[in-house]
Amino acid sequence: MSHHPYRTFRTTVARITALSPSFTRITLAGDDLAHFGTDGLDQRIKLIIPFADGTITDVGQFDETQSMTDWYRRWRELPDELRNPIRTYTIRSPRPGDREIDVDFALHGTEGPASAWAGGAGVGDPMFVVGPDSRAEAPGGGIEWKPGTATSVLIAGDETAMPAICSIVESLHDGITGDVCIEVPTESDALPLSAPDGVRVTWLARGGAAHGVRLSAAVHAWGRERAAASAPGTALAETDPDVLWDVPEAVGSGEYAWLAGEAGTITALRRHLVRDLGIDRRSIAFMGYWRQGRAEAS
Ligand SMILES: Cc1cc2nc3c(=O)[nH]c(=O)nc-3n(C[C@H](O)[C@H](O)[C@H](O)COP(=O)(O)OP(=O)(O)OC[C@H]3O[C@@H](n4cnc5c(N)ncnc54)[C@H](O)[C@@H]3O)c2cc1C
Repeated sequence: MSHHPYRTFRTTVARITALSPSFTRITLAGDDLAHFGTDGLDQRIKLIIPFADGTITDVGQFDETQSMTDWYRRWRELPDELRNPIRTYTIRSPRPGDREIDVDFALHGTEGPASAWAGGAGVGDPMFVVGPDSRAEAPGGGIEWKPGTATSVLIAGDETAMPAICSIVESLHDGITGDVCIEVPTESDALPLSAPDGVRVTWLARGGAAHGVRLSAAVHAWGRERAAASAPGTALAETDPDVLWDVPEAVGSGEYAWLAGEAGTITALRRHLVRDLGIDRRSIAFMGYWRQGRAEAS
């Protein structure tokens, strides 16, 4: 039997680890996870959030003959009360050998179903994870970190990008240089993270500042340092203000930037890199992970 690139994994909560005031790690376990296939990095997954009784509406998610496109279409047609929320997260650590994955949640209250679920989860609670199937012949995708041969990187994001950033940084080999800026709600949210010698990691505590202000200031400071070091800039380029996501393969200029977090902040930073600093847009991956004031449109 051939396997689709993505499948729905039945899991339950095995462990809950409070990492800091704002981050909770939920370890999900399930026999299905033996077939969880990913190289880690910023691998995205979908979580189908169960109803209070732990169930989800069956639209064919567990029928392995159907693709995600098939069941997703049926899910979209469901009435609101039967349509379980679907939200996008990152695999912090895949351990298919142990049939476990870790997902790190940035808790932001109970307004959103994913954050509410994570904040109230208990051991044994069910969760349904849509992710890559190791048995599929075609790759599943969902990894956007594509630095090519770049030797100098800028990695910047907010708390929702923290899991992806930590996985990416842990994968960097010696010889890479660069800067990593992570904006988090409080000073106590800075987590241990080992990086190669040439990579500077800066945790930016938001404190009372508005979302994105500290991250923007740090990236602008990085741009000034880069200019002072006379990195070559190309002619100023235009950017499309409506685009929230672009994940090109790096073009081999030696530089690569990966930006993820609140869409307004991230699109403004990408504009700054392209328009003001003259960095080739094909060397910048940027991803609006969420939008202030708007629930994820699944
Ligand atoms: C590829 C990808 C990977 C992601 N990986 C992770 C991850 O590993 N960990 C993680 O925590 N998040 C991650 N996110 C972000 C996460 O999907 C969003 O934060 C999502 O909106 C959370 O769903 P929710 O049900 O809690 O809130 P929603 O129902 O989507 O939103 C409800 C309200 O909360 C607001 N909101 C959403 N997120 C935040 C936030 N972080 N802080 C403050 N307000 C917020 C919205 O603007 C809205 O007003 C990822 C997103 C993408 C696209």
